[in-house]
Amino acid sequence: MSHSCDDRLMKGGVFMVNIPEMFGSMVFNDAIMRQRLPKDVYKSLTDTIQTGKMIDVSIANVVANAMKDWAVEKGATHYTHWFQPLTNMTAEKHDSFISPIGGDKVVMEFSGKELIKGESDASSFPSGGLRETCNARGYTAWDPSSYAFIKDGTLYIPTVFCSYTGDALDTKTPLLRSMDAISEQSLHILSLLGDNTASRVAASSGVEQEYFLINKEYYEQREDLLYTGRTLFGCPAPKNQQLEDHYYGPLKTKIGAFMAELDRELWELGITSKTKHNEVAPSQHELAPIFTTCNVAVDQNLIIMEMIKRVAERHGLVALLHEKPYATLNGSGKHNNWSIATDTGINLFSPGKNPASNTRFLIFLSAVIKAVDDYQDLLRLSVAIPGNDHRLGADEAPPAIVSIFLGDELEELIEAIVGDIDYQDKARRTMDLGVPSVPTFRYDSTDRNRTSPFAFTGNKFEFRMVGSSQNIAMSNIVLNTATAKVLKDFANELEGKSDIESAARALIKKTLKAHKRIIFNGNGYSKAWPIEAEKRGLLNLRTSVDALEYLTKEKNVALFTEFGVMSEVELHAREEIMYENYSNIIDIEAKTMVDMTNKRIIPAIEQYIGSLSAIARDKASVFGGSVGTELERAIVTRLSRLAHIAYDKAERLSLKAQESAAIKESDASAFSYKEKVVPLMRELRAAVDEAEGIVPADIWPLPSYGEMTMKQ
Ligand code: ADP
Ligand code: MG
Repeated sequence: MSHSCDDRLMKGGVFMVNIPEMFGSMVFNDAIMRQRLPKDVYKSLTDTIQTGKMIDVSIANVVANAMKDWAVEKGATHYTHWFQPLTNMTAEKHDSFISPIGGDKVVMEFSGKELIKGESDASSFPSGGLRETCNARGYTAWDPSSYAFIKDGTLYIPTVFCSYTGDALDTKTPLLRSMDAISEQSLHILSLLGDNTASRVAASSGVEQEYFLINKEYYEQREDLLYTGRTLFGCPAPKNQQLEDHYYGPLKTKIGAFMAELDRELWELGITSKTKHNEVAPSQHELAPIFTTCNVAVDQNLIIMEMIKRVAERHGLVALLHEKPYATLNGSGKHNNWSIATDTGINLFSPGKNPASNTRFLIFLSAVIKAVDDYQDLLRLSVAIPGNDHRLGADEAPPAIVSIFLGDELEELIEAIVGDIDYQDKARRTMDLGVPSVPTFRYDSTDRNRTSPFAFTGNKFEFRMVGSSQNIAMSNIVLNTATAKVLKDFANELEGKSDIESAARALIKKTLKAHKRIIFNGNGYSKAWPIEAEKRGLLNLRTSVDALEYLTKEKNVALFTEFGVMSEVELHAREEIMYENYSNIIDIEAKTMVDMTNKRIIPAIEQYIGSLSAIARDKASVFGGSVGTELERAIVTRLSRLAHIAYDKAERLSLKAQESAAIKESDASAFSYKEKVVPLMRELRAAVDEAEGIVPADIWPLPSYGEMTMKQ
């Protein structure tokens, strides 16, 4: 916190601060720009921000200087270009503002050049072969559409990151390109439908972030958490989420204090942290800000993840953002709520009161339906990281099959359109609970279906497959670009038609008919769904590795290159990076398991065996044959067997990991990890977890599931 403690009044653990005054105080936002920039500079900058046009270099110096003055007044001494390399994290390199002026003196300076462009010898970032280490030059370039902000005495400037040859080495560049694509294509369709009032269509995203909190003391005792972010061993606690008493439960005092501080940190940074609650699994929580344009939402989500971790530390906690920190407990996802809206304030996914006669809505709805059907593979791929493999298809998360939930009302409407049946828009029903003092209210037009990976929720789509640790850029890139593509094809069909309305109606009908198979309103968790999905010809890419090869399939290369979102070279590089990332993660997990087995788990089992043997020996020598030693024998026999299995599995695991690592081609290597290493990890774990169930807690070297999830 940048506040000192004494400028706030503490009342029952609550800081009394003027929230509206404090909100965004660390952001170089529109209000500050208006205040601090000359009128013409302000106008030119906001033009750039709103239209995505190129920034005029001449104004950069003025902006840089104003930014620096503002930042220095707020106590900043450094600035950094802040970017999103292909590591699933953010990167920064801090430079101070100081500049020598002779006479052993310095002034604080920041030039337009420094604002616009940064150069980094960034050869250690993944480039998937896009850059040789001998050609290490990489550039960062200012992204004026996301505000600069101050964190830890440093002015953060959101930037894109590319190679010397201009290839994107980050997630932001293609995201910005995809936002332009969907804007342009949406405007084209709108204009064909007779609406020429909008000048930009913005894709927006609202991200619900799930995470676990664990006591730092327990965290530090587990190498698996330290190295991999998830528990590689651990037998389930007697009580986990059976009673469903954690979901929306009252916040523990310590967690409440953590969340209150987190909110304030985020509010200072202009992030509209809005909703917070306990999630289904014990020690699992969720935070959601209010939606904003995709680009800013991505940046903000990255800050949110970092802040969750940092603030947790101040409370003696560690935040686990991994998709599956604990086997058998619910995993963590990230719901990406996505919509598109004009700069005149129209949400293009809003059905209005009469969806049946709302051609604009039906055009955009059918575009999304077709886009999701045509590019199921890419949506699946956008969430393909090893952590998510433990989640997708398990009981609590959407399956690995992509489908769309529309709700009964829209489903009925679509059936009517496809079957030429008369359809009457439904009047909104009112809920009356039969308790006179409780006000009546209206039903929503769609119920919730938690089991669907892609659900229409009133005026937005909620993509629920994203993993909790992931950057949401890729899923937005796919949604924006795929939808842009369909809109473009639609426009080609509508162009030049004399009766646009009937042409549009025919197009909607044709599209819905062809792509109805992707709509599924039933239970996505049911055993019957994968079978049904297969009949419908839908893809079921169970693991990340199965999905990765789709990135460079011809139709997908064609999609991304058509809109200049990613070049073929960039796509191949990304595929390479994703394979390598998969292999690296599994390799680290395997090595960690081997290490823990040999250095911690087997010695602990042996220790217990030793003490049981000593007891048996004592019994025999003190009591002779009159007291049996069958119990010791039974436990020792069972534990010896388990320890031996663990030892053998660890040996084989080590070997298979080495073999997989030695394979040169990144795809074959990743497949080998999936086929040969992952199953052995499961087998090793089973033996160790069984042993944990019978070794005394004070000998077992790792904190238990019960301790970690119940004692925050
Ligand atoms: P839930 O999924 O629990 O129903 P909400 O309806 O409150 O949650 O919305 C969750 C997220 O969706 C929030 O971040 C919210 O700001 C965002 N959201 C709401 N409307 C839109 C929209 N039109 N476009 C994108 N995101 C939206
Ligand atoms: Mg949601």
